[in-house]
Amino acid sequence: MSKTNQFKTESQKLLHLVTHSIYTQKEIFLRELISNASDAIDKRHFLSLTDELVPQADYKIEIIPNKADKTLTIKDNGIGFTEAELIENLGTIAQSGSKAFIEQLDKNDTNIIGQFGVGFYSAFIVSKHVVVKTKSPFAETGFIWESDGVSTYTIDTYDKTEIGTEIILSLRDDISDEDEVETFHQFLEDYEIKQLVKKYSDYVRYPIYLTGEEKPLNQMTPLWKRSKQDVKEEDLNQFYKHQFNDFEEPMHVIHMSVEGMLTYQALLFIPKKPAYNFYSETYEKGLQLYSKGVFIQDKNKDLIGDHFKFVKGVVDSADLSLNISRELLQHDRQLKKIATNIEKKIKSELEKLLDNDRPKYIEFYDQYKTSLKYGIYQNFGLHKELLQDLILFKTNTSDDYISFKEYVSRMKEDQKDIYYASGKSKNQILNLPQMDIMKDKGYEVLLCTDEIDEFMFQMMNSYQEKPFKSIQTANIDLADDKKKKEIDKKTKSNKDLLNALKEALEGKVSDVKLSSRLKDAPVCLVSGEGLSLEMEKVLKQMPNSDEIKAEKILEINPEHDIFSTLNHVFEVDKDDIKDYATMLYHQALIMEGLPIEDPTDYVKAMTKLMVKKGN
Ligand code: ADP
Repeated sequence: MSKTNQFKTESQKLLHLVTHSIYTQKEIFLRELISNASDAIDKRHFLSLTDELVPQADYKIEIIPNKADKTLTIKDNGIGFTEAELIENLGTIAQSGSKAFIEQLDKNDTNIIGQFGVGFYSAFIVSKHVVVKTKSPFAETGFIWESDGVSTYTIDTYDKTEIGTEIILSLRDDISDEDEVETFHQFLEDYEIKQLVKKYSDYVRYPIYLTGEEKPLNQMTPLWKRSKQDVKEEDLNQFYKHQFNDFEEPMHVIHMSVEGMLTYQALLFIPKKPAYNFYSETYEKGLQLYSKGVFIQDKNKDLIGDHFKFVKGVVDSADLSLNISRELLQHDRQLKKIATNIEKKIKSELEKLLDNDRPKYIEFYDQYKTSLKYGIYQNFGLHKELLQDLILFKTNTSDDYISFKEYVSRMKEDQKDIYYASGKSKNQILNLPQMDIMKDKGYEVLLCTDEIDEFMFQMMNSYQEKPFKSIQTANIDLADDKKKKEIDKKTKSNKDLLNALKEALEGKVSDVKLSSRLKDAPVCLVSGEGLSLEMEKVLKQMPNSDEIKAEKILEINPEHDIFSTLNHVFEVDKDDIKDYATMLYHQALIMEGLPIEDPTDYVKAMTKLMVKKGN
């Protein structure tokens, strides 16, 4: 008795698109089905290596055109489907790539459908009816799945003993899309099939036969096993898009072929954009692992560090023993060695880009800089050496990104430290009061607008023995001796005023000081030891962060008119000093991009002074 089931909503949506759009590349259905067949054989082969299944010698994919019935069959002796797998895999869209694809479609037009692997459903591009006959080694009987690709499908038991899957496509006779009338019978022609296999599936690892022929249609050498000269950029792009479910071409491709103590090949790709879930917990890093062309593992995490987790790719090594379980494999010393080499290679490729093709590097950097910066911060700075020269910043004097190396090379003669400043935006940082003296001195300041930046600098500590220093901290020494003496003197003579201000701001700031760094601004806020103001902002976003507080110091510009005003107020109306302190403190908070702590106090103080001035 056959059972009728509904496709899940998402599947219906995708099917509708597949059957109703005008495709420029209808032919991709064959690539998709062959690729599925190859994956299914991979799975069966892998299980036989771990002793779960009996090995099978004769893996193959067969293409059977039937001109009388107008059907095209794709047959494999892979893992097959159990009944549950038919429902799960063909009735719903499990694959995350397809989901992302549907999301894209909501926003974009349908042109990209041809570039994107829509998997099994692409069968309905060219078919009015699809039948899947299958037998899994884990099921008692075979099954038959049938559908017209609209809203339902049926499943029944089926007398099939041979393990594997046959997909029988009843090709559409014609399709009329407004003025286009077309038949799909060309896919029954031998030359057409041969050409398509060559074009899309040449590197598939198992032989693909046209039924009745002795010679396989494909070369069977995986792309990564071919020499670099023999692989066309277009092949690499095709392979990437299909293998890693991206509808865009990769930004950069790295082809490695290493022989010696350890022999392996790797094809590494940097996607144009991070995966849609790249910044969430659900993103899984890893490289696909093969041994002698046989698939072993989809995402081997040991092959790639977190700092390069955006890299996708395939690694194939003849030196890995295949009889080991996945767990053992993870501890393989050879794998570690390969991982180290891959890491070095990625770094050197990125450095090459940085040196030789800055615009392209910046395109890369803008997408992945947080990963690199976080990589430096992680593991107590373990990867500092590896990553530091890949980091770029814009500065107060340069709209172009510069590296630390470049920064150091153009430091002023009297400059000892590498300066940085943090804020929400470039503009906000440039307007910081603390920037005044830097402008005066002609010092370059790295502009930090990513949350991770200060944490990274703290972990790095220095670059080429030049310490990193935030211009928003108290412990920065920029004034000359003359200026320092002058400030000391003024501090002494204004002790009472400064103490009164400090008292007024108790609990808010740890100190009120005269500043040697301000020019036009009346005040600024800097941090003392430990956390910086910016770090406080970041950490405050986390739960249970009430205790987190940076030590704040208010600096007053003794050259500014406000200072004589304060002196005057202190003499004639001591009580008003409190309001002045509140106002100045909040001004400083605003300039730092920090939230106003006490809006009521602030507004009251301001109103009071306005009223006084008006009377
Ligand atoms: P995917 O990109 O995951 O292959 P598909 O829609 O093409 O997406 O296929 C869905 C799932 O159906 C596959 O992940 C696989 O588990 C299963 N499948 C597809 N074709 C075959 C096949 N020929 N033999 C066994 N399983 C298959």
